[in-house]
Amino acid sequence: LRVGRSALLLVLLYRRVRATQRRLQSSQAQLRVQSERDALTNLANRRHFDEVLQLECARAARSSQPLAVIMLDVDHFKKFNDRYGHQAGDACLVRVAHALAGATRRASDLAARYGGEEFSVVLPNTGAHKAQQLGEALRAAVEALDIPHAGAAAGMVTISVGIAVLLEGGSADPDTLMRLADAALYRAKDAGRNCVVLGEARFG
Ligand code: GH3
Ligand code: MG
Ligand code: MG
Repeated sequence: LRVGRSALLLVLLYRRVRATQRRLQSSQAQLRVQSERDALTNLANRRHFDEVLQLECARAARSSQPLAVIMLDVDHFKKFNDRYGHQAGDACLVRVAHALAGATRRASDLAARYGGEEFSVVLPNTGAHKAQQLGEALRAAVEALDIPHAGAAAGMVTISVGIAVLLEGGSADPDTLMRLADAALYRAKDAGRNCVVLGEARFG
């Protein structure tokens, strides 16, 4: 009888431990997902974007595939906050993020909130032509939201888009690619905003 009781206790204890283990595993998985997301927009965050870009740069060089990165920035967003308030600004960023996610449908493409009102997209195995098409699709998707912005020349919320492409057979580190995308973005701002500029495409 004594042995039977101990065995039963042992089984109960084992079940408890297993249940706790499963709860821990699932909250760990949840934490991992959360640590990769931006809390406001639910897009990937900067940290996750940097990790993925690093991996994709290595893969592109290894497999001789092209790789594109897009940097984009909401136009005259300071004026938007000034005029409509910070909360409306936040809501605007959520809608922009949603439009970007909707326009980047390929499973391997990753759209992220890079910081503030800047977003980035990594496009594995994508050359200049396809990247420019997608950049234009992103620009059009935000324009189509038709969010009024009295402080902007366009009268609505728009984005400027800069693209850098690593051609197949080349190699580049993430910093170089991001610098080129950023330079292209600044040219898009200079060119009057709400437009797409394709940056330097030859490295290595
Ligand atoms: P440009 O067209 O040259 O990009 O002008 P801009 O006004 O968008 O650029 P600037 O860098 O001067 O201002 C960015 C603004 O974005 C300022 C900052 O308050 C706002 N911003 C950044 N992050 C957030 C956020 O999470 N929520 C809100 N509401 N505003 C943000
Ligand atoms: Mg900015
Ligand atoms: Mg801006």
